[in-house]
Amino acid sequence: MIHFLTAYIAAIIFVFGTVIGSFLNVLIYRLPQGMDFKKGSSICTTCKHELNWKDLFPLFSWLFLRGKCRYCKAPISARYPIVEALNGIAYVLVYLFLCGGTAIEGLTLKLVGYMIMMSALIVVSWIDFEHQIIPDSMWIAIFVGGLFIVGDALITGTFTKEWIISKIIGLFAVSGLFFLIAFVTQGRAMGGGDIKLMAAVGFVLGWKAVIISLFMSAILGVLFSVGRKIFAKKEMKGVIPFGPFLAMGSAICAFIGEWIFDAYLNLFL
Ligand SMILES: [Zn+2]
Repeated sequence: MIHFLTAYIAAIIFVFGTVIGSFLNVLIYRLPQGMDFKKGSSICTTCKHELNWKDLFPLFSWLFLRGKCRYCKAPISARYPIVEALNGIAYVLVYLFLCGGTAIEGLTLKLVGYMIMMSALIVVSWIDFEHQIIPDSMWIAIFVGGLFIVGDALITGTFTKEWIISKIIGLFAVSGLFFLIAFVTQGRAMGGGDIKLMAAVGFVLGWKAVIISLFMSAILGVLFSVGRKIFAKKEMKGVIPFGPFLAMGSAICAFIGEWIFDAYLNLFL
């Protein structure tokens, strides 16, 4: 039974997540174009009309406007509410399952660190899928998230030598392998963005969970390719970037990566 205060805080965290999610939508739109995301107000991408606060209200404005621009009636991508909802859900899951999720005690630096990582992974998924790039600011954000988590461990006294070594090995566990693949194929099979992303994720998750992330990503990638073959109306061409699956696999493994690793080892011990 979830404590009332915990449920109340979780609800607030969800709303906060959707608000940050609407900022993530701005990043997803502007980062690939090299636009400054801090300047200027948001506009409708079709009619260029400036949007006011009512149009920018997370989730609800899209629902009330039925996915159309208030001014020109052009359809607004479902990406907007999806990103907002996903970010809200991710924040709540982090609070409940990674930060103890007990009322006030769950509100820690660790929570902030994981929130930053989840948001960056959502942005990476979308941008890499559409543009085949992983912006440097996003893997740097994940690394900073990791520093928050280390800070939390120092404050709460859960910091141990073993724990930090697991994170330092995590930096290289998957990224080192990717670097090797990139080196051997001279950058054809693996991009620098994937290497840096998995170094930052490895630092947050530790080496066990980041290795499981790689397997999880591969499975998600294969499922997606098969699904696309079966359901696509016309023949789809072009390489599928691996980054979105790495990001999704990493987000999932933040919760269950280490558990899967240990369960797998137990099969043989
Ligand atoms: Zn418009």
